[in-house]
Amino acid sequence: MKRAVFPGSFDPITLGHVDIVERALPLFDEIIVAIGTNAAKKNMWTLEERKQQIENAFAGNSKIKVAVYEGLTADFCKKIGARFLLRGLRNPSDFTYEQTIAQANQKVNGVESVFLMSSPEHGYISSSIVRDIARNGGDYSALVP
Ligand code: ADP
Repeated sequence: MKRAVFPGSFDPITLGHVDIVERALPLFDEIIVAIGTNAAKKNMWTLEERKQQIENAFAGNSKIKVAVYEGLTADFCKKIGARFLLRGLRNPSDFTYEQTIAQANQKVNGVESVFLMSSPEHGYISSSIVRDIARNGGDYSALVP
């Protein structure tokens, strides 16, 4: 069973996230979209809201599950028997950020990271841009599922 975890804050889930998960479907038997929780981090949408948004985005696709975890992503992967971590790359700063984490996860936990490049039409989308627009009362509907 090829199971991958797609971890993130998903505050909120965007069309960029949806694109990565859908394009990764042929590679895996199951993809767990996993919301990492961190008590110190202030989110705009509650955990329940974020979970619901993700469930709605992938409703009807039995290969995609939603989960919530605390602590290290690699520990969560081990716990649920996922050998792969799925991540999206938009630009060189995503790459620089991801590189050492992926190397450490591989070395320490044997979890292999798989990266997909964002589609050109989604590369500029980030949850933080959506939050900025939302905070200022703007219309962000074109950026989210
Ligand atoms: P984090 O809090 O780890 O940054 P996010 O919820 O922002 O989590 O993102 C989760 C994953 O989705 C990361 O691998 C991130 O690079 C990727 N991602 C976010 N936005 C996009 C996008 N527009 N296109 C492709 N990948 C994206």
